[in-house]
Amino acid sequence: MKVLKFGGSSVATSENISKVINIVKESAFNDDVIVVVSALGGITDVLLETGNLACNGNDEYRNSIKVIEDRHLQVVRQLIPVTNQSVVIGMLKKMLNKLENILEGVFLINELSDKASDKIVSFGELLSSFIISEAMKYYELDAILKNTQELIVTDENFSNASVIHVKTNRLIEKFFDKNKHAIVVFPGFVASTENGEVITLGRGGSDYTAAILASATNASILEIWTDVSGMYTANPKFVRQAFPIKNISYQEAMELSHFGAKVLYPPTIQPVFEKEIPICIKNTFDAKAEGTLITKVSSNIDPIKGISHIENMALITLEGSGMIGIPGFSKRLFEALSQEKINVSLITQASSEHSICIAINNEDAIRAKKAIDTAFINEIAQHKVDPLIVEKNNAIIALVGDNMKSHQGISGKMFSTLGKNNVNIRAIAQGASEKNISAVIAHKDIKKALNTLHSEFFENQTKQLNLFVVGVGNVGGKLIKQIKNQQEYLLEILKLQIRVIGMANSRRMLFNEDGIDLENWKIQLENAESFDLSLFHDKVINLNYRNSIFVDNTANEIISNVYADYLKESVAVVTCNKIACSSNYTNYTKLKNLAREYQAPFLFETNVGAGLPIIDTLKNLIASGDKITKIQAVLSGSLNFIFNNFSEEKSFHEVVTQAGIEGYTEPDPRIDLSGVDVMRKILILARESGTILELNDIKNESFLPKSSLEAVSVTDFMETLKSEERHFNLLRKNANAKNCRLKYVAEFDKGNAKVGLKEIASDHSFYNLEGKDNIVLFYTERYNEQPLIIKGAGAGADVTASGLFADIIRIANN
Ligand code: ADP
Ligand code: ASP
Ligand code: MG
Repeated sequence: MKVLKFGGSSVATSENISKVINIVKESAFNDDVIVVVSALGGITDVLLETGNLACNGNDEYRNSIKVIEDRHLQVVRQLIPVTNQSVVIGMLKKMLNKLENILEGVFLINELSDKASDKIVSFGELLSSFIISEAMKYYELDAILKNTQELIVTDENFSNASVIHVKTNRLIEKFFDKNKHAIVVFPGFVASTENGEVITLGRGGSDYTAAILASATNASILEIWTDVSGMYTANPKFVRQAFPIKNISYQEAMELSHFGAKVLYPPTIQPVFEKEIPICIKNTFDAKAEGTLITKVSSNIDPIKGISHIENMALITLEGSGMIGIPGFSKRLFEALSQEKINVSLITQASSEHSICIAINNEDAIRAKKAIDTAFINEIAQHKVDPLIVEKNNAIIALVGDNMKSHQGISGKMFSTLGKNNVNIRAIAQGASEKNISAVIAHKDIKKALNTLHSEFFENQTKQLNLFVVGVGNVGGKLIKQIKNQQEYLLEILKLQIRVIGMANSRRMLFNEDGIDLENWKIQLENAESFDLSLFHDKVINLNYRNSIFVDNTANEIISNVYADYLKESVAVVTCNKIACSSNYTNYTKLKNLAREYQAPFLFETNVGAGLPIIDTLKNLIASGDKITKIQAVLSGSLNFIFNNFSEEKSFHEVVTQAGIEGYTEPDPRIDLSGVDVMRKILILARESGTILELNDIKNESFLPKSSLEAVSVTDFMETLKSEERHFNLLRKNANAKNCRLKYVAEFDKGNAKVGLKEIASDHSFYNLEGKDNIVLFYTERYNEQPLIIKGAGAGADVTASGLFADIIRIANN
C-alpha cells in the first residue's frame, strides 16, 4: 500500500487534477493506493472568509458562495465528459445547498463558533475529493471515495483536533479489510468527534490525514505531492538559492516544519515515525524531480540541513525584581497561556530567573497580556513583577540539523553572520539536544537573515555584493563597464557575485532586484522613474540586501551628506567624492565612527591619487604600528599636466584650456588652480594619519595673481590667465634659470600642512614626474631616511573607476 497526498495547488484546477490522476495511475500500476486530497487551492481561505462575512451579517457571503460554486463547477465541466456531468453536478449542488444552509444559520444568529467554522471549512475537502474520485472513474481507474469523517475520530478541540489513535486505527483497518478497490480517495483535513460532529485537524492538516492512513495501513511509503520539489534548505519563496534536501531524518523534518517549513504539517511525522514509514516529498508539476526522502536516519552527515522561519511572532517578556521568590512562577505563567490555548514557540529564561521571554503568535498577544497580567495581578500591585511587555512584528529563524551537536562554533557563526549584516537578535534558544538553534529577529529582517545564513551555511563558496550606484557619467559609466567585463571572472575565480541593483544619475533612477542588465543599462535608465535622493535611500533600505554598497561617483555635496543615513543601516559606502572626508572634522569622524559601529565599510581610496593605493597603504602602515612623520606629495594630476606642458611655445592660458578640453581639470578650473583640490587631498591624508585638522588650518601659498584669485566667473578667470601672461612666464623662467621644474607640492609635517607651487631641482624625485602622474612620499618611523614612494597615474576616469572597483573588492574580502 502507498499513500499519496495532493495539496491545494496540486488540485487547484482541472489541468492540475489531470496531472494528479496521471501520477496516481502510474502509482497504482503495481500497488494499492490511498489518495488524500486537499481542498482546491485557496478554497479553505475563501470558506473561512465566507463564514466571517455571514457572521458579521454581511450578505456579501452569498456572492462568496457563488464564487465557490463556480470554481467547482468549472472543474467538473472541464474534467468530466458532458454526458456524465449532470449526475456529478446534481450531487455537487446538493452539497453546496447544505453549505448554504449552514451559512444562512450563521448569518441569522450572527455567531460563528469553532464548531460551526469547522463544519463550513470541511466542505473544501468534501467537494474536492468527490470531484476527483468521480473524475478518476472516467479515466478508468478503479477508484472509490471514502469520507475520512467515518474513520478518523478525535477529541472535541474544534479547529485543531487531537486524534484518538486506537479507535481511528481500528476503523481504518476494518474498512480496508473489506475494501476491494485498488484506489481509495479520501478528503484530507476532516474528521469527526466521538459524537459524530464534523471537526478539522488544523490548517495544513491534510498531510496529517495521509500520515494517519499510512500508519494504520502499514503503508510502504507516504508521498506528499505539492508545488515544490521537496523540502528545501530554506523557504524557496524567500531564498532563491535554496535547493531541495535529498534526505533528512524524521527529527530534522519535524524541527524544520515546527519552525515554519510549511511544506509539511508538523504533526505528520509522528504517526509514520513510529512505524518507520518513509515520507517522500514530491512535486506534482515536476514529477521526475527526486524530491526529499525523510527516513529514520539521514545518509547526509552535514551538520546543518536547513533554515526555517516563522513570521508574525510576538515576544512577550515577564520580568521583575521580586520574581525569584514567587512559588510556582513558571507553572502559573504557562498555565495562563495554556488556558487561553496559546501556543508557545520559543522560551528563554535568564539564569538569574529575573525574566522570562516567550515567543507566541502576534494574534495571541493581546489575550496573552490579559491572561498573564490577571494571573499575576497581586504581584504586579506589589511591584514584584512588571506588567507583561509585548513586542509584536518579530519572527523566529532556526538552523536545524541532527549533527550540529558534534560541531563546535555553529551558533557563533550564526550570530556573527547576522550581526555583521545588522540583523538584531532579540532572543536565542538552543535545545539541549542541539537539533536546532533559534533566534528571534525583527520581521523586516527575515529575508536578509535567511539569505545571509543560507549563503554562509550552504553556499559559502559564493559571496554576493549588491551595489547601488549614484553617478553614472564619466567615472560611474567606466565603473559599470569594468564591473560588466569582470563579472564572469569574479564569479568563477573569486566566487564573488557583483550585482548592480540600483543606479541613478541626476535625473533618473533604476532598480532591478535580480541585478540590472549591464549590457543596455543606458536605455533602461533613460526610461526609468525620476531620481529622488530620499526615495533612492528608502528603496535601498527596504530591499534590505546583505552586503549592500552605496557607491557615490559624483562630486556633489548633497549626495555626500547622506552617507551617514546609509552607514547607520549597515550599508557600506564607497566614494570618489572628496567632500565628505574634507568637510569639518566632526563630520569626518562621525562617518568613520558610524562605519565602525555598524560594521559598514566607508572607503574613499579614490579621494587621493585616483586608483593609486595611497590611503590603503597609509592605513596598513598605521595598523602595523608605524607612525607617519612627514608626507610630501604631488597630488594634482591636472596641475602636473599644466606645468609639464607650459613652455615657451605654449602659453599658460593655452595649456589650461587644453587641460580642460582633455578632462584633466574640474569643469571649474579654479578648484584645481587655486589649490583647493590639493588642500582637500592633503587634509584627508593628514586625518588618516591621525591628525585633527581642518581645511582652514592648511597654508595655501597661491601662485595665482590677485586678479585671477578675484575673478568672479570661469570666463573672467580664463581672461586673467591671458592678461597676466607675464606673471606666469616669470614663474617658469625663474625656475628654468635654476634648472628647476615647477611642481605643485603638498606637504604635511609635524602636524601642519601646506600646499603651493615649488621649484624642484633635478635631483629630487618629483623632478621627472610625467604627464598627469601623482607621487606621494611617506616618511615614517620605519621609513625615516628613504621614504615609501607611491607613484603613477593620478587622474582620469578609467583609473578612478578602477580605484572604486578595488574598494568594492576590498569589502568583499573583508
Ligand atoms: P500544499 O498545498 O501542497 O500542502 P503548502 O503550501 O502547504 O502546499 O506547502 C508548500 C509550500 O511550503 C511551498 O510552496 C513553499 O512556499 C513553502 N515552504 C516553506 N518552507 C519550505 C521549505 N523549507 N521547503 C519547501 N517549501 C517550503
Ligand atoms: N485545506 C486545508 C488548508 O488549507 C488543509 C490542507 O490543505 O492541508 O489548510
Ligand atoms: Mg500543506
